Amino acid sequence: MISSTDTVIVGAGPYGLSTSTYLAEAGVPHQVLGLPMHAWKNFTPPGMLLRSEAFASSLYSPCGGYTVEAYCQRNHMEYKSVGLHLPVEMFVDYGQWFQSELVGHVRPVEVQDMCRKDGYFRLGLSDGSSLVARRVILSLGLKAFGQAPAALRGVPKPYVLHSGDFGDSAWSEGKDVVIVGGGQSAIGLAASMSAAGARVRLLVRGDAVNWSREPRTSSGLVSRLLRARVGLGRGWDSNKPWLLALSYMLSEYPASFHKLSLQQRQKILETSWGPSGAWWLRNRVEGKVEISARTEVSRAEIRNGRIVLEVSSGNGTSAISADHVVLATGFKVDMARHAFFSSEILNSLSMIDGSPELTSNFETSVRDLYVLGPAAAMSFGPALRFIYGARYAAPRVAGHIGGRFKREAGRFAAPSHGVTPELANGHPASGAHARSVLQAVERNAE
Ligand SMILES: Cc1cc2nc3c(=O)[nH]c(=O)nc-3n(C[C@H](O)[C@H](O)[C@H](O)COP(=O)(O)OP(=O)(O)OC[C@H]3O[C@@H](n4cnc5c(N)ncnc54)[C@H](O)[C@@H]3O)c2cc1C
Repeated sequence: MISSTDTVIVGAGPYGLSTSTYLAEAGVPHQVLGLPMHAWKNFTPPGMLLRSEAFASSLYSPCGGYTVEAYCQRNHMEYKSVGLHLPVEMFVDYGQWFQSELVGHVRPVEVQDMCRKDGYFRLGLSDGSSLVARRVILSLGLKAFGQAPAALRGVPKPYVLHSGDFGDSAWSEGKDVVIVGGGQSAIGLAASMSAAGARVRLLVRGDAVNWSREPRTSSGLVSRLLRARVGLGRGWDSNKPWLLALSYMLSEYPASFHKLSLQQRQKILETSWGPSGAWWLRNRVEGKVEISARTEVSRAEIRNGRIVLEVSSGNGTSAISADHVVLATGFKVDMARHAFFSSEILNSLSMIDGSPELTSNFETSVRDLYVLGPAAAMSFGPALRFIYGARYAAPRVAGHIGGRFKREAGRFAAPSHGVTPELANGHPASGAHARSVLQAVERNAE
C-alpha cells in the first residue's frame, strides 16, 4: 500500500512529538512515524533518574498546560522545577500522555529505506507499506550513534553488556561489575548496582567525574544563569560572569550558536556540557564505587568464565577481572550510520565530521529534509543534545515548513486517482496540494 502526506516526522520522542503539535497549529498535514517515547522506554536503564531538571524536561506545544508541571498536578504528584529527579518511567508516562492529548495517531513503524525522486521522498516502512511525502523531518535521537571502545567490540553477552540492555539492577548483587563511561548513564548505573550489592568499578576517560553543581534557588540574575546551565548539565567549570552568560545564551537562544564560526562551534561542543554526573548522585557513588580516572581499555579476553581487561592509565597498564563489563560510552553523531538513506541522499548530504550542516531553519543540504535533536547540535549547540532544545527547534522548523506549505499550496492542481491519501493528525491537506503529492506517488510507484 502506498499513502501520502505533506510532511513526515520520523521518530516519536520529545522532538518529534513537540514538532507535531506546532505543525498542526501551522495547518501542515503530517504523519508521525515510530513508537511514542520508544527510546526512553527501551534503551535507558530502568529506574534511571533524568539528568535534566524538571523545568527543562517538558515537551513543547503551542497550547499551554502540557508541561511536566501540569502532568504532576493532574496526577497529584509533588512538583519542583529544580531538584525533582524525574524517574524515566514517569517521564515516559508523561510523554505518552502528551502524545495522546496533543498528537493523536502515531504510526508504529520504522523507516527502512528512503529515496528521493522528482522532489518527493519515498519511505519504505517496516509494515511493508510505502509513504510518499514532500518533506521529511528526522528526529531520531541517539540510538544509531552508540560508541564502544575498539577492544570491547564483538565481545559477547553476558560478559559485555550495554547500559540499556537489562531491567533493574537486582541481578548484579554479589557480582564484580566494571562500568565504562563517565556520563549520567554510567554514574546512575554505578549508583543503582552498588545499592543492589554489586562491587562496582567505574572506568572514566577524563581526569575525574564531572559533577553538576547543586542549583541555587534565589531569584537573582546569577541564579537564573546558573539555573539554565544546571538544567542541561554542567557547562564550563567557571563562575566568570561572561562564561555564565554565554552558557545561558546557548541554552536559551540556540540561534546564536548557529551564527558562530565552525571553529568556535567545535570548540564549544568539545568543552561544554560533556559527560557529567547529576549532583544528587554524588553521595550514592563517592566512597561506595571505585572510580579510576584517565583510563582506557586496550584489550579484553575471557578467562575461566570471567572477563579480563587490560586497562592503561597514567600509572601504566593493569589487569582488571570482572563478571561483567557494562558499556555506557556515549555517542558520536554520524549520519552515514542511518542505513535507510539511499546513496543519492547520503551523497547529497553536506556534513561536518558526520553531523549534518543545517540552515537556520534546520534544513539539510537536501531540500525539504530536516534534522532535529542531538544530531543538530553541530549547528545549534549543546542545548540540542537535551530535551530542552525542542523548545526552540519545534516552533522554528514548523513555522518554516508552514510558510513553505502555504506558498506551495496554490501551485499544484493535478487531478488524482488510484492512491488514497492518508493524512493524519486531523489536518487534511488542501485538495490541490494533496493531488500533487498523489501524482508523484503514482509516478514513483511505476
Ligand atoms: C541514557 C540517557 C539519558 C539521558 N538523559 C537525559 C536527560 O535527563 N535530559 C535530557 O534532556 N536529555 C537526556 N538524554 C538525551 C536525550 O536522548 C535527548 O535529550 C532526547 O531524547 C532527544 O529527543 P529525540 O526526540 O531527538 O530522541 P529520542 O527520544 O531518542 O526519540 C527518537 C525516536 O526515533 C525512533 N527511531 C529511530 N530510528 C527510527 C526509524 N528508522 N524509524 C522510525 N523511528 C525511528 C527511536 O526509536 C526513538 O523512539 C539522555 C540520553 C541517554 C542515552
